[in-house]
Amino acid sequence: MNSIILKSAAIAFASVAASLLLTLIIVPALGFPINRTIWLTSTLCPLVLAWVACASTFWQSDRLKNAHRELARAHAQLAAAHRRLSEKASRDDMTGMLNRESFFAALDGSRRKSDRGALLIIDADHFKKINDSFGHLTGDDALLLIASAIERGVRSGDVLGRIGGEEFGAFLVGATEAEARRVAERIRREVELIRFRPVDERTVPLTVSIGGITCGEDANVSKLMRAADLRLYEAKHRGRNLSILDRDISEAA
Ligand code: GH3
Ligand code: MG
Ligand code: MG
Repeated sequence: MNSIILKSAAIAFASVAASLLLTLIIVPALGFPINRTIWLTSTLCPLVLAWVACASTFWQSDRLKNAHRELARAHAQLAAAHRRLSEKASRDDMTGMLNRESFFAALDGSRRKSDRGALLIIDADHFKKINDSFGHLTGDDALLLIASAIERGVRSGDVLGRIGGEEFGAFLVGATEAEARRVAERIRREVELIRFRPVDERTVPLTVSIGGITCGEDANVSKLMRAADLRLYEAKHRGRNLSILDRDISEAA
């Protein structure tokens, strides 16, 4: 407020100076004497008019600036909320991993860039039995333990998603077949090492079966999923708690 009064005063005094200068030039040039009324008019008029006009203009511009600042702050808050919301919408509530849609979108994105890597599908073994024996809530606890074991098994930068109830996907960015085998085995082992004790000291084993495939440059998401699924099916068929990334497996199986 003070700055508005000061700025208005400065302009008002400048206007008075200009008005007096013009009066001193114009009035004698027109042949009139400069009397007290002329002095007063050429001083007071610009003083009052300029002060009021400037104060009102500066006040409005100040309000506009404040409104702009508020708007920018609200915009930033809205953008942050939008980021948080879309981040939340892309995640599975239970495990915090990407949900099915976002996982496949990420996979599709990496396919478009022809990224090298490997896709693993990880499925909990005989999970229905866990639910049937201990209830769905305890089953949820077991799923969370499995999800954490998978997170420990992958490398940083790998993309993880929950693609079904007790089924997870991992895209191992840039992994060769040997690396993918190592990661798959590490995940399988991490899950096997879980000490799940839902009721007493007795440990209930948790295991996963894993099917995986390395990505050729031309393979699309559905081809990769089909190939990894086949290997997962084979791992289940061979007794579970197994990872298979076999290139020679019969695609017709
Ligand atoms: P397999 O080794 O052949 O995969 O056997 P499975 O029992 O794991 O497979 P199946 O498809 O027969 O059953 C999957 C079970 O996983 C049944 C379903 O209730 C359970 N499940 C899926 N999502 C959740 C979940 O979010 N929480 C719990 N507790 N159970 C879930
Ligand atoms: Mg299962
Ligand atoms: Mg399943």
